[in-house]
Parts: sequence; C-alpha cells; structure tokens
Amino acid sequence: MKTEVFIAGGGVGGLTLAVKLARRGVHVVIAEQLSKESNAYKGELIQPKTLAILERLGVLDHIEENGHPIDQLRFQEVHRNHGELPQEINLTELNYSRVASNYDHALMVPHEKTKEILRNKGKSYEEYFHYLPGTRFLGFENGMAKVKRKKETFHIQAQVYIGAEGRSSPTRDAMNVQVERKDYNHHFLTVTIPRPEDFTKGKIITTTSCFLGLFPLPDNEVRTVFLIKAGEYKTIKEKGLEYLYQAYSELEPELSAGVRSIKDWKKVQLMIPYTYHVDRYYTGSLAIIGDAAHTVHPMAGEGMNLAIQDADVLGELLAWCKEENKRYIDHLHYYEDVRRPRVSFLLTLSHLSALVYSFQYEWWRKFRMLAVQRIYDDDQLHVKQMLNISGLGRWDFNLLDRAIQGSMLPARKKKVSDRKQQQYLFSEAEDYPWKRNEKGMIT
Ligand SMILES: Cc1cc2nc3c(=O)[nH]c(=O)nc-3n(C[C@H](O)[C@H](O)[C@H](O)COP(=O)(O)OP(=O)(O)OC[C@H]3O[C@@H](n4cnc5c(N)ncnc54)[C@H](O)[C@@H]3O)c2cc1C
Repeated sequence: MKTEVFIAGGGVGGLTLAVKLARRGVHVVIAEQLSKESNAYKGELIQPKTLAILERLGVLDHIEENGHPIDQLRFQEVHRNHGELPQEINLTELNYSRVASNYDHALMVPHEKTKEILRNKGKSYEEYFHYLPGTRFLGFENGMAKVKRKKETFHIQAQVYIGAEGRSSPTRDAMNVQVERKDYNHHFLTVTIPRPEDFTKGKIITTTSCFLGLFPLPDNEVRTVFLIKAGEYKTIKEKGLEYLYQAYSELEPELSAGVRSIKDWKKVQLMIPYTYHVDRYYTGSLAIIGDAAHTVHPMAGEGMNLAIQDADVLGELLAWCKEENKRYIDHLHYYEDVRRPRVSFLLTLSHLSALVYSFQYEWWRKFRMLAVQRIYDDDQLHVKQMLNISGLGRWDFNLLDRAIQGSMLPARKKKVSDRKQQQYLFSEAEDYPWKRNEKGMIT
C-alpha cells in the first residue's frame, strides 16, 4: 500500500492531523490498533486554542453540541467535617473571559465523542482519508511501515511517517530519542458519576490533605478526580467504596447521591501522573506528535490539547509543502521549532500547578490559598494564567509576578487592556512561520 503520509495511531492527535491533511488533498493512511471504542478515561477538557483549531476543521458546532462549557476554573478551600457539611474558607474563580479572544470558554467533551466527530469528518474526504481500524503498527522494515491486521502483516510506503501512538510509540523507538520520565508523589482515582442538573460549574475542592476535582460533562454527568498518595490505591480499595462515598459526600454534599451510583471498583480508574519530553520531534522522514513526544501532568488539563495543537502545526506544514511542491523532509524542523518551546512552557506550568497540590501541610495550604487568590486579585496574573493555559498565546511570568503572587508585594490595581494582551496572542505568522515571505508577511 502507498500513501503520502502514514499515521500510526488514531487518537485525538492522529485524527486531527489526518482530517487536516485530507481536507487539503493530502493522501493519508491511519493505522489504529483498536477496532472499537475504548473504555479508558482520557482527556476531556478542550481549551480555547483547540476550539479555534476545531473550528477551522469545520467540526466545532458538532463538538459544542456534545460538550459542556466551562467558563471559569473555581478553587474552593474547605474544612472537612466528618459526617457534617464542609465549611468553605475560600473560593477563587478564574475566568476564561479575561483573555481577549472570541474563544472565551473551555469545553468538557467525552473523549470518544471527540474522536468519533473527527473520524466522521475525515470519512467525508473519502478520496484522501484512509482509516484502518484493528491495525497495529509494528515498526519499520525496508524503509516502510510494517502493520498487522488480524493475522495478516503488510507494508505501507509513505513520504512521511508520523508516530501518534501515545505513550508507547514504536515510531519514537525508531527515532532513538531520549525519554526521561519524572514521577510524582501522588496518583489519582478518576470516575464519572451522575450530577444534579443544576451542578453546572466545575471546581477543585481542597483541604490540607484532600483534593477533589469536579468537571461537569453533558448528560448530567460529572468527571471526578480524587488525589491519593502514590502507592495507596490498594489500601484504599481494601477500605471499600464506602471510603469514596464518604470522602465525596463530605467534600461536595451535592454529589452524595451521584457517588453512590459507583457499585464496582472496575468503574474507578487509577491514573498515575508522570511527565517526559523528548529531545527531538523528527528524524529524517519520521516525526512524532502528542503523547508520543511529551506527557504532561493532568492538573492543567493540557495533554489532549497539546496533541491537537501539534497536529495543527504539523498538518499545516505538510499541506503547505504539498501545495508549494516542497519536499516534506526538508521542512519538518519548522514543526519542532514552533511546538517544542510551547510544549516545554506548558509542561512547566502544569508541573508547578501539580506541586501546589503535592504537600499536605497546613502552612502549605495557606500559601496555596493566598497564591491562588492573588491570581484573581492581580489582573495581570489573572490574564497571564488564563492566556497561558488557553493555548491562545504565551505571556511569561516574571520575578515581579511571582513576588506579587507570593504576597511579598501588593497586587497591582491596573487592569490589563485587550490591546496589551494582543501582543501575547499567537499570530498566524508565529503558528506557521514557514509561510512568511521576505517582508515577514503571511503568504
Ligand atoms: C485518565 C486520563 C485523564 C486525562 N485527562 C486529560 C484532560 O482532562 N485534558 C487533557 O487535555 N488531557 C488529558 N489526558 C491526556 C490526554 O488523554 C492525552 O494527552 C491525549 O489523549 C494524547 O493524545 P494522542 O493522540 O497523542 O495519544 P492517545 O490519545 O493515547 O492516542 C494514541 C492512539 O494510538 C493507538 N495506538 C497505540 N499504539 C499503536 C500501534 N502500535 N499501532 C496502532 N495504533 C496504536 C492507541 O490505541 C490510541 O488510539 C488524560 C489522560 C488520561 C490517561
């Protein structure tokens, strides 16, 4: 079999890339090892930059119809009282609308639904989009991709080979890049449960020792994420589901009925956070995107977004190469030039967010509470935080910001104007720099 671009892995990254290419008349073959939907929980929070990308792919309306909007991130600190209602000691609400963009919210969409919408879009370009379910990519042989479907093994020849296989990536192995994994002192239990209809706002509820993240989904469901110490899963399981029922009910009484719908530990997924970032995104005619290239701590809800944003830049580059009659392999460096620094930045941001919830001391909780509240009180911190996690731009925190956040200096009174912010939003020339002509204009 022959194609222009071969993609190993039909997750959100691989599918976005394939749709983008097929739309622009580039022939793609995607090999996806699964033959049907997966039950494993994966990313559901779609950030504003990703919404912009999905809009350009022509699927945003469908995604919005299947999503629950999140316009704020709310951080609630409580005292947990056994058998009684929790007592709120602080609530901070950070707003996506502080970012000067039309994309003023994030969206919770069931992961498999996002994939289904992308797959269906791809299939509408039947001449160019070739999706092979139940087909496992094994590695390279004689300069071609070797794949296996049922008992049959065959080769696919392409001009470029993209690894979008997620955390375990034969393409990455073939590139021989460095992967250094970092682990955390905590794990998460995650489960989707029913929610009351009016429970529409997401929040993170914390005490000195507990963390419960709640992110409403459509159809009156809510995705929950409960932090445990690393290695504690077995002990918690032995305590029985009653342990979870009690913790959830004491932290968020509105979900005490919903949590009791969990009847089996099989519904509860253990999520072990870790991070890595490869040193190279491409070698010769091979490139990797998404979790194959980097894995991020889930605290800031970025993993899926980084995969889709990688796919957008790489897809635009490959489509441009075809349209301009340029050799793909001569231009792959642009993909790494744009994406690697942005991913590094978000990896650090997510890591810092994870540290904020990694220590169980009262003094640490007080520091966290003040630091989060300061983000709200100081408009520049608020704008920077939301702009950075939205993916729409990048505005680095400096020493002054950190001193204000750490309450060493007072919060600034001045609001950040939209005009000022616009300098930090990614322009088309920054997203796709290879399109600039000698005058620096996008062609
Ligand atoms: C529990 C959990 C919660 C998360 N929550 C969030 C969140 O809220 N927000 C967020 O943005 N991110 C979140 N993430 C991270 C996010 O899911 C991933 O970063 C994202 O799915 C990466 O996309 P990807 O396309 O690179 O890889 P994947 O989604 O892993 O897709 C890889 C695909 O390749 C296929 N594959 C693998 N090997 C082969 C092979 N050899 N041959 C053929 N096919 C192959 C797999 O079956 C899969 O379909 C979460 C992850 C987990 C596990």
